[in-house]
Amino acid sequence: MTFRSFMDLALTEARAAAARGEVPVGAVVVDRAGQVVAQVSNRTRELHDPTAHAEVLAIRAACAQLGSERLVGHDLYVTLEPCAMCAAALASARIARLYYGASDPKSGGVAQGARVFAHVQCHHVPEVYDGIDAAAAEALLKAFFAQKREGN
Ligand SMILES: [Zn+2]
Repeated sequence: MTFRSFMDLALTEARAAAARGEVPVGAVVVDRAGQVVAQVSNRTRELHDPTAHAEVLAIRAACAQLGSERLVGHDLYVTLEPCAMCAAALASARIARLYYGASDPKSGGVAQGARVFAHVQCHHVPEVYDGIDAAAAEALLKAFFAQKREGN
């Protein structure tokens, strides 16, 4: 089976978030058959919900569609390294593979910070692939925060 990345869809979602004034992070959940079952982006401002990160919304949407609290065999693509909260949610959801774009020195919890998957308390560790289309994700975030600083 040839590998097909779904990061382009996650980046499209991230751009949509930026257009809504949300921090541009997008996520996509793909099932075993390679079908997209969730395609969402960050909505913390819109929903007045600090937990409404793209990964959490993607997990909720995919689980609701599947009628299960676990996403066994599913993969998640996200444009930015998940924070500790999202990494814990991904472990609880039993996500098989995590593909992420830009690393997040400020809030990342996978390769730095809390390193959630490295803890003995973490009962499920997904395969992790980082740096997927990282330059595009970084450019989106940089442009978004530069614009915010200018007060636009
Ligand atoms: Zn998060």
